Amino acid sequence: MTDTPKPPARRRRRRRRGGPGPTEDGDTLEARAAKALAELAAVAREVAQRHGAPTPARLSVELPLGERPGGVAFVDAARAAAEAARPDDAVWRPGHVYCFQCSSPDCRHAKPDDPQALFVGYAPTGKPQWLGFVQACVDRRVDGVQRLYHRPPGVVGLLETTALTAELLPGFGHGGGAYRVLGQAAVGLVPADLTGRSGERVALALQVVETRRPGTPVQLRLNILGLASEAVIAAAADGAPHGPPERLRRLIEKARRQLGAITRRAVTAEARREAYAVDQAVQSLLGGLRGDLVRVFDADGRRTRHAEDRRREGERPTSNVWRDARQAGDDRVFHDAHRETLVVVGPKGRAHVFTAEARHVTSMRLEPGELERRLAKRRWRLAHPEEVRVFRQHLAASADAREAG
Ligand SMILES: [Zn+2]
Repeated sequence: MTDTPKPPARRRRRRRRGGPGPTEDGDTLEARAAKALAELAAVAREVAQRHGAPTPARLSVELPLGERPGGVAFVDAARAAAEAARPDDAVWRPGHVYCFQCSSPDCRHAKPDDPQALFVGYAPTGKPQWLGFVQACVDRRVDGVQRLYHRPPGVVGLLETTALTAELLPGFGHGGGAYRVLGQAAVGLVPADLTGRSGERVALALQVVETRRPGTPVQLRLNILGLASEAVIAAAADGAPHGPPERLRRLIEKARRQLGAITRRAVTAEARREAYAVDQAVQSLLGGLRGDLVRVFDADGRRTRHAEDRRREGERPTSNVWRDARQAGDDRVFHDAHRETLVVVGPKGRAHVFTAEARHVTSMRLEPGELERRLAKRRWRLAHPEEVRVFRQHLAASADAREAG
């Protein structure tokens, strides 16, 4: 390789042969446009292939001329078009889960009412079940759930690799296994705008969904719940090159590529009647994803929190949990608006966090004035009498259970 210009004789020869060769000063505008479009078409075809999706018949592209054209947005548009070209769109809707009760991916059960809710499987009738992220972590005894209560709040990753459609009764969820959620990696609670400026937080889940029509090869897709794919791309374009939005975008892109590779292997294996453990491949993909997701959102706070973890280990007032909870007056029970939990404040600043069903999440010690600050910021409010009544009922029931056990 040298920088020596090509001899003029060769250039003349190429031009005489005609056709749009490599871009040279002499190319016509039409030839340059044709070449650029051909390259875009090639990229779009490769995007579809990588996602194991059919090549769409056409792709409309918006070309903003006032700014540098965005390659990321083009690839995403190509991916969306390829996804849309799949033959089974009756069950697939990005950001939703299919509702077997209504046989629709668009009914009101297909999305959560609350942005902090996580999909946790199906009711026996086929209705999607949603549960608050904190509650879901507590139910599954997720390690490090107390991090959700640190300052700054940490994030917790959650992994589910057993199919989330297993509970369906016969008669529901049929159609030859047309739609199956194979598992999900979730992280929460993360900033809804990915920057933290709005203060609003959501649960983010990346699901692997298998769709299939009788007689067609299996298809695996990545479903993003909690944040829209376009919002991630927009935040990444606005943010720093190594900031969380860009890292999340790359992570999603990588997961889609890996899923495309698994799909292609599965289709090949099916055609050759060979065995290929799709579930296992998906499980290992999701396992890696959970760790990656936590690292995207946890990078900044991790060091401080480790120190805080250690500091709090020594002084966490967990031994007084149940006594404090029983003895607290109604005016010492607060509702945490961010996490949908109840907090009982006992003597000496001891604060115990519970779910509405009186499941203990964590305990901490409030610093002087902290209770008042949280109330003033409306982060906490006094629990409503009905909330306190339900809480005490569950508390009594769990006390019975503890004594019986
Ligand atoms: Zn429904």
